[in-house]
Amino acid sequence: MKAVLAAVAFGSNLGDRAQQIEAALAALAAHDGVDVLAVSRCLETRPVGGPPQGDFLNGAVLLRTILDPRGLLELLHHLERRAGRVREGSVPNAPRPLDLDLLLHGDSVLDEPGLTVPHPRMHTRAFVLDPLLEVAPSLVHPVLGASVGELHAALHDTPSDQVP
Ligand code: ADP
Ligand code: MG
Repeated sequence: MKAVLAAVAFGSNLGDRAQQIEAALAALAAHDGVDVLAVSRCLETRPVGGPPQGDFLNGAVLLRTILDPRGLLELLHHLERRAGRVREGSVPNAPRPLDLDLLLHGDSVLDEPGLTVPHPRMHTRAFVLDPLLEVAPSLVHPVLGASVGELHAALHDTPSDQVP
């Protein structure tokens, strides 16, 4: 398919968080169908929901990719498993060595079993929009019709979950 810009959020709160994130970003960059254009800083954030667990490192990456949304999600799931993530039998919002969420994929709008794009909660989460603003302020959310910069500004009234 034609190359499009895509944004992926990454997070980790189990094991060697920085190492697991670095390994996943390196694997993304090494993939034939993916060019990594920009990587945000890692932010330390409090977990949202789920059982008591450690703080996250969160960030976002801007890609150019020829993979379609399903192909990119499969790659992200492969990298999660490679980092030791086990999904089966885990409770929602359980601690995880690696979480990779597909936020935006060109102007794709999909709501299929196992794949919703744009990511349905991206515009409500400071731990997603704060790093995304660093790498892709002008990407437009195709459903909300607003740029990442505008979504970030709209969320600003809501308290951040970033560790002070
Ligand atoms: P979360 O990231 O919301 O904490 P998980 O990583 O456990 O939850 O993902 C739960 C399910 O969400 C997965 O089975 C995945 O297929 C599905 N999913 C739907 N849309 C997306 C998306 N845009 N990015 C990542 N996962 C998605
Ligand atoms: Mg996820």
